Amino acid sequence: MRAKIKALQAQSAPIQPNDQQRKQWQAQVDAYAHAFLEKIGERLCFNETEDLAQGLLDFPIEETAKELTSILEVLEQNVDTPGLDPCSGGHMAYIPGGGLFPAALGDFLAAITNRYAGIFFSNPGAVRMENMLIRWMCDLIGFPQTALGNLTSGGSIANLIAIVTARDAQGIRSKTVEEAVIYLSHQAHHSVQKAIRIAGLNEARLHYLPVDDRFRLDATALEQAIQADRAAGLRPFLVIASAGTTDVGAIDPLAKIARIAQDQNLWLHVDAAYGGFFILTEEIKAQYRGIEQADSVTIDPHKSLFMPYGSGAVLIKNVAALKKTHYYFANYMQDAMLEDREPSPADLSPELTKHFRGLRMWLPLQLYGVQAFRVALSEKIWLCRYFYEEIQKRGFKVGPYPELSVAIYRYVPPGGRAANAFNAQIIQAMRADGRIYLTSTTIDGVYWLRIAVLHYRTHLEEIDLCLQLLEEKVRELLKEDHKKSTSTA
Ligand SMILES: *Cc1c(COP(=O)(O)O)cnc(C)c1O
Repeated sequence: MRAKIKALQAQSAPIQPNDQQRKQWQAQVDAYAHAFLEKIGERLCFNETEDLAQGLLDFPIEETAKELTSILEVLEQNVDTPGLDPCSGGHMAYIPGGGLFPAALGDFLAAITNRYAGIFFSNPGAVRMENMLIRWMCDLIGFPQTALGNLTSGGSIANLIAIVTARDAQGIRSKTVEEAVIYLSHQAHHSVQKAIRIAGLNEARLHYLPVDDRFRLDATALEQAIQADRAAGLRPFLVIASAGTTDVGAIDPLAKIARIAQDQNLWLHVDAAYGGFFILTEEIKAQYRGIEQADSVTIDPHKSLFMPYGSGAVLIKNVAALKKTHYYFANYMQDAMLEDREPSPADLSPELTKHFRGLRMWLPLQLYGVQAFRVALSEKIWLCRYFYEEIQKRGFKVGPYPELSVAIYRYVPPGGRAANAFNAQIIQAMRADGRIYLTSTTIDGVYWLRIAVLHYRTHLEEIDLCLQLLEEKVRELLKEDHKKSTSTA
């Protein structure tokens, strides 16, 4: 048997590369990464290609090993070329992500050292680091130091954790689900509805509240709705507000909503996935007043903290409630108990073993300092304000003044031409050009173009290019129109 084991060991040697092999591969990957970064300005922000990563299918996982050179070629052609380039400063669609360079270094180290960040006993440092980051975010929004939460993969899972915790803390059980009421507006992110369903609350009543002319939830309507629902024998238990909606970046009246939620003993969850870190800026700080009164907050470092995708967070004021919903014990875990020194993510989230995602966030924050993030976020706010003014000078209609760094606008063509279709054509033309990537939304049947300024590589130059391209596309579309109408006349 020993001989057989030895033989298997010898055969599996490549899985443990030696120093020289490691350095050679790393140098290749390093060269690839730097070439990629160097070409960010040259690549299209949106690359509409004919073949949609077809080459991957011709490069299947096989029994035999392949060369790194050919592997990287396939990666470049199929993954890093077609579609959206989220690293581009021209990315102003949806909610842009970031991808700070030191965060990649943090990820590299996290994967190399593979520290176990699920349980304090296994790696006190990794867990302490993650808890420090969570407490830092709690501090930013004004939660007490007794609050905690979890570093998640993103805002969707953060919303889910908050909603299941609220459900349990408010005593909603399967028998009472049909009487349970959740308050939100149609501007809430769809991950909220998804989380409600996954949390077993699909049969609960979703009470949608009206919004004002700036798309902010109407707090007076909330108070009346709660009273009416109570009178009808229902069980209001949860309010979901937004601090930066996805459509327009609206901040709901948090202080008013918080007061109502407190008076009525409802759980208040604030979804600040997009907007959360703008609280760092002087421009926005005051508008977040009241967020500290929430019971839970979602905040996405992979949005307004420029981290690579896979970085979200949920902050929960009542850690006992969070633990009650997520804590389980198993005999095979009996050796791993040091828990009262520092809470473990495994006890406060659905995950056990997980990515050590704290390191990718800790490293850039340490290396740059918070001030760098603060000013970069201020820049985004002012870029959006600048765009909002400039786009009007080019004949576009605009939505409400941007509260954060998202604005909506549309071009209404003369001569009664359908504006919705015309704006959809602008989006198509912009995507075909590919240098600046914009998306749209529809609010109450009206098609709006959006701009979301959030990439750390987006500066005045990109905004000016965006304005210039929008102006050009409108001119071209109007000219085409004119040609068509004269040729049919
Ligand atoms: C992006 C976003 C989410 C979802 O977060 P993911 O990280 O994409 O899962 C939730 N709420 C709001 C307001 C968002 O902008």
